[in-house]
Amino acid sequence: TATIVRFRNDLRIDDHPALLAAIQRSQPIVPVFVWSPDEAGNWAPGAAARWWLDRSLRSLAADLQRRGSRLIIRSGDVYEEIDKLIEETTADALYWTRGYGPALLESDQRLETSFTERGVEAVSYSGRLLFEPDAVRTKQGNPYRVFTPFWKACLNLDPPREPTSAPRKIPTPQDWPASESIDSLGLAPPLDWADQFSQRWQPGEQGANKKLKRFLKQAVADYETGRDQPDDYGTSRMSPHLHFGEISPHKIWYTLQTQSGDGSQAYLRELGWREFAYHVLVNFPETPDQPLRPQFENFPWQHNATALRKWQRGQTGYPIVDAGMRELWTTGWMHNRVRMIVASFLTKDLLIDWRQGARWFWDTLVDADLANNTMGWQWTAGSGADAAPYFRIFNPVRQGEKFDPAGNYVRQWVPELNSLPKKWIHNPWEAPADVLAEAGVELGKNYPQPIVNHGEARKAALAAYELIKGT
Ligand code: FAD
Repeated sequence: TATIVRFRNDLRIDDHPALLAAIQRSQPIVPVFVWSPDEAGNWAPGAAARWWLDRSLRSLAADLQRRGSRLIIRSGDVYEEIDKLIEETTADALYWTRGYGPALLESDQRLETSFTERGVEAVSYSGRLLFEPDAVRTKQGNPYRVFTPFWKACLNLDPPREPTSAPRKIPTPQDWPASESIDSLGLAPPLDWADQFSQRWQPGEQGANKKLKRFLKQAVADYETGRDQPDDYGTSRMSPHLHFGEISPHKIWYTLQTQSGDGSQAYLRELGWREFAYHVLVNFPETPDQPLRPQFENFPWQHNATALRKWQRGQTGYPIVDAGMRELWTTGWMHNRVRMIVASFLTKDLLIDWRQGARWFWDTLVDADLANNTMGWQWTAGSGADAAPYFRIFNPVRQGEKFDPAGNYVRQWVPELNSLPKKWIHNPWEAPADVLAEAGVELGKNYPQPIVNHGEARKAALAAYELIKGT
């Protein structure tokens, strides 16, 4: 007999409650990863996330091997594959880390009920969040829609459990069941598009721990201001590691508690936003596809494939927007401030449906996360929880001047504008002809003219909002 530990988005050994519980049974453990993209319904991992998953699985397999164990790889329907594995290993228990979001909750429920009925101890453990999405409710018994009271209520609960350390050895079965290879899953996109990712990221548990260390050493003290400066390495860049569960939020939480200063408190609050995003996703499961505020169902979104393409490729003529979209394409990640700017530009300057933006992010972000992405897009579009009011429309030039004052971020990602003085870096179309000529910028030739006039676009967006405001 054996215990199967099923890995999914919890690709770590450290602080892993399901693995720990399996070890306490003192029986052989069969770690398994089932590649089953359909399990996530409409939201199978996108291309950039699959690149990450491929590397992260290799890292987990190596970590397990160092502890005398293995990672068994299977692909297909989760239920069927685990069923076969139970037969093959005569396992009497199946443990895993709980997933969230409508499709994963349903899948977990199915595993739990079906295997329990057949006498297998099928248990999901909490390992992804500091507080379970249903742990808090408003006084009226409803889910929260506003962050601050939500987070206050969480902080009034018992503190999150303390993290545990990684097991040194993992008991193995006498005979290992067959395994597919990670290569055979064909996860990493064959495009050279992702080549640059490996220069910037180290997927896996060691990579996650290194990032945390770097953040504590170099950025946490100034996080409150540094987190809004896209040209600086002022945030932790832990998001893909957190998404794939390569580090637990508990470990981050308790590590940060040992730091003094406002930076660590500000950082814990951001982790709070992640908790809030999951609270909203679980309690409003339709939100990845539908606006939380129903009046937005009637919003007159425009269909404009050409403008959408220009936005995706960083060719809008607004330098801060283009810089962000190119950072995303090249690295699989974008700074939070710039995510807000590009999302506002798509939904308000171009009047393109936030769902189109969310899909593009889904395919190109290494940290694409159903809860956080949905929250970020609905927040910016004005249709979601605790959303920015629709009429608050980011001016891409002012945002650039405020958060990238020297233009370093733009220069990094839009090299065509590299030689422009900072006075014109965010609004090259207003620069005198001789300045442009000297900087080698030919608008409409080597860098686009703005695809919309922000002032006019703003008026059009407000007029569109008027149509649904009272509905
Ligand atoms: P840090 O500032 O170091 O924050 C630490 C951690 O806190 C992050 O790793 C993340 O897990 C969490 N966090 C921080 N800000 C937020 C936030 N606003 N909402 C939820 N969690 C947050 N985040 C994703 O992880 N996946 C997504 O798919 C995603 N899509 C987004 C789409 C839009 C339009 C917007 C505006 C935001 C989106 N975010 C998403 C939230 C945020 O931009 C990223 O979490 C953040 O930029 C990650 O960088 P970091 O790890 O350096 O953040």
